[in-house]
Amino acid sequence: MKFAQRIQNIQPSMTLAISAKAQSLKEQGIDVIGFGAGEPDFATPENIKQAAIEAIQNNETHYTNVSGTNALKDAIIEKFDRDNGLAYERNQIVVSCGAKHSFYNLAQVLWDTGDEVIIPAPYWVSYPDMVILANASPVIVDTDQSSGFKITAEQLQKAITTKTRAVVLNSPSNPTGSAYTKNELEALAEVILKNKLLVISDEIYEKIIFDDFEHVSIASLSEELKQSTVVINGASKCFAMTGWRIGYLAANADIVSAISKLQGQSTSNPTSIAQAASVEALSGKQSPAEIQKMVVEFKKRRDTLMDRYAKIEGVSCYQPVGSFYSFPDFSGLHGKLWNGRTLNGSLDIAEFLLEEAKVALVPGIAFGADNNQRLSFATSMEKIKEGMDRIESALKSLHA
Ligand SMILES: *Cc1c(COP(=O)(O)O)cnc(C)c1O
Repeated sequence: MKFAQRIQNIQPSMTLAISAKAQSLKEQGIDVIGFGAGEPDFATPENIKQAAIEAIQNNETHYTNVSGTNALKDAIIEKFDRDNGLAYERNQIVVSCGAKHSFYNLAQVLWDTGDEVIIPAPYWVSYPDMVILANASPVIVDTDQSSGFKITAEQLQKAITTKTRAVVLNSPSNPTGSAYTKNELEALAEVILKNKLLVISDEIYEKIIFDDFEHVSIASLSEELKQSTVVINGASKCFAMTGWRIGYLAANADIVSAISKLQGQSTSNPTSIAQAASVEALSGKQSPAEIQKMVVEFKKRRDTLMDRYAKIEGVSCYQPVGSFYSFPDFSGLHGKLWNGRTLNGSLDIAEFLLEEAKVALVPGIAFGADNNQRLSFATSMEKIKEGMDRIESALKSLHA
C-alpha cells in the first residue's frame, strides 16, 4: 500500500507509545505505576455531567453551527473578558474537537511549504508534527532548566528569518510546568511586534497554577498584541473533560472564518452535547470551586514530589508553577552501566525505570529534551510515594 507523503513525514505520538508499553506489562500482571498520564485523574464535575444529560433530554442532539453554538461562544467570550481582560465578538471565536484540533486547523489554514514556525523546546509533543502536516517547518529553540525552560527575547530574535510566520507559546507548559510572568511576556512582545509575527498562545493549563503565580495572556498586553495573537484554550485540562473533546480559539475574524470553512468541509461542529456541557463548565457557579479542589490536590502532590527529588542524587527538578507535570533532569545517570549497557539519553533512562523500578515515565526526547523525563502528578499521592520509593531504590542499585 502506498501512503501519502504527509503521513510518512510525521511520528506517532510518543506519549501514547509509552503508555502502551506500560499497559502491556500490566496485562502480564506486573504492577506498574504509571506517571505518564496526560489528563487529570479527577472525574468531570457533577454540574457539567448534569448539563450534558439535560442537553440529551432536550434533544440538543443535532448539528449545530459549524464553528460552535452561540451559547457556547457567548460563554467563551464571557470567560475571556472575566479571566483575561480580553474582549472578543462571536465572529472571533471558533469551537473545535479539542484544543489539539484548534491548533491543527490553524496550521492548515495559515501555513505553506517554506513557512517557518518557531517552537521553544521542551514543547508539547504535537506542535512540530502539526506544523509538518501543514508542509511548514518547525524551528526548535532550546531552553533549559537554568532559565526555567523559558525562551528569552534574545533567543527569539535570533531564530527569526524572513520565512518566520509565527511563534508558539505554551504557558503554563506541558511538559515542564513552567509559566511566563508578565514581564517576560512583555520582553517577548517587543520582538514579536517589531517582526510582525503571529503568536499562538496555548493557555489550556491557565487555571492549574500554584502559589501566587498569576497567569497572564500575552494577548492582553496591548490591543496591537491582541491583533497578533491567537489564543487557544479548551475544556480538557481545567475541567477534567479530556474525553468530551471541546477546544476553542480566539483570533481575528479572517482566521476564524478560514477555520470555519475548513471545519465545514471536514469535521463539521464539535459534539452538540459536549458543547452544552462546556457552557456549564465555563459559566456554572460551581466551576471555580471544582477547579480549586483539583488545584489544591495537585499542589500537595507537587510539593511531595519536589521534596523527594531533592533527596535523590543525580536528579534535579525545576519546580512547576502550573500544570500537573514535573520534568526532572536525569542526565546525572547518563554514562552509568545497567545490565552491561551504558545509559545514554531519555529513552534508555525510561526503559531502565520501567524495567527496574516498574514505573512508567515519558522520555523527554518526545518533548525535544533528552536529559529529562516527564513525570505527571495526575495520579494519587499513594502512587506518587510508592513510585518515588521505587525510583530511589532503582537508582541506588545503579550507583552500586
Ligand atoms: C492536552 C493539551 C492540549 C490539547 O487538549 P485537547 O484535549 O485536544 O483539548 C493542547 N495543548 C497542550 C499543551 C496540552 O497539554
